[in-house]
Amino acid sequence: MSRSLSRLDELRSRLDEINLQLLSLMSKRGAIVKEIGEIKKKQGVQKFDPVREREMLEQLVKHNTGPFDDETIRHLFKQIFKASLELQQDDHKKTLLVSRKDHPQDTVVMVGDEPVGNHRKTVVAGPCSVESEEQVRKVAESMKRQGLRLLRGGAFKPRTSPYDFQGLGEEGLRILRRVADEFDLKVVSEIVNPADMELAVKYVDVIQIGARNMQNFELLKAAGSVRTPVFLKRGMSATVEELLFAAEYIVSRGNRQVILCERGIRTYEKWTRNTLDISAVPLLKQESHLPVFVDISHATGRRDILLPVAKAALAAGADGIMVEVHPEPAVALSDAHQQIDIPQFEKLISDLRESGLLSESQD
Ligand code: PEP
Ligand code: MN
Repeated sequence: MSRSLSRLDELRSRLDEINLQLLSLMSKRGAIVKEIGEIKKKQGVQKFDPVREREMLEQLVKHNTGPFDDETIRHLFKQIFKASLELQQDDHKKTLLVSRKDHPQDTVVMVGDEPVGNHRKTVVAGPCSVESEEQVRKVAESMKRQGLRLLRGGAFKPRTSPYDFQGLGEEGLRILRRVADEFDLKVVSEIVNPADMELAVKYVDVIQIGARNMQNFELLKAAGSVRTPVFLKRGMSATVEELLFAAEYIVSRGNRQVILCERGIRTYEKWTRNTLDISAVPLLKQESHLPVFVDISHATGRRDILLPVAKAALAAGADGIMVEVHPEPAVALSDAHQQIDIPQFEKLISDLRESGLLSESQD
């Protein structure tokens, strides 16, 4: 008994020793990997080299005499290779530019002379789609009366069915610009095609990137190459992290003026159009310095619960809300079920102001 115990102790102490040897070898390996990383950086060579990785694995398997089987050896070394590759990544790859770690203060996005963010509560309102100048003007008049300045309206509509109204295109942008200038408002409108970015900046003050395009990387890159603020909506099946990576595409191209928007995600729930992920709001505020909005119209798809949902969003720390408003929702060419009319809009805003969650005026 005591002999086998001492044998066990002896084997264990040998294992401890081998562990330390493995650790020391891993550290030596890590130092070499880092040096290789520096050389690759200077040469502008890709850090990940799958051919070299396969060759190393083949060599290891060839020399494997057991007792671990080849698959286990491959698995173990792949972990080592993965950790090594991470050692070679530049620091900015670990800390995103959109992250609070990189930038602790809140970013205030300037939409012309209108600041957005920094816990200032802002309302973006307007029709789902621009249908006519008269329609947009009615909403703009109401916004002006209420001291709200960010007018939304879709000119390029990403519709589920190709047979549905696709938007007025450039003419829609022209209408928005004319009406906004008349009432000293700012224009927020969705762009769906990277090639339209130059056209967009002539008309809009904020480029919206919609849920369906959150991972349209060419569109994100194009939005990153202009200096107009971007309103980036979370994809309907995207994680919070994926939203931040999408924002990183824009910011890393030089456009730091990005507003994030939670607009509900797809779940099995049928009583709302989407499920508002309220926890995304404090999470995004915690992880990122960018302003965070909640689109209460697309999140719910209905008008009867907008007030409590807006209150929840603002109470959770959202910097603002987006709401769809149409002078006559029943005849709207898109999202007729969820748009509110002007009296409902004015009641929503006055109720929010009365609750203290929204300040009296945006000025
Ligand atoms: C919109 O805001 O017009 C819109 C289409 O919303 P989403 O991209 O969130 O569906
Ligand atoms: Mn809509």
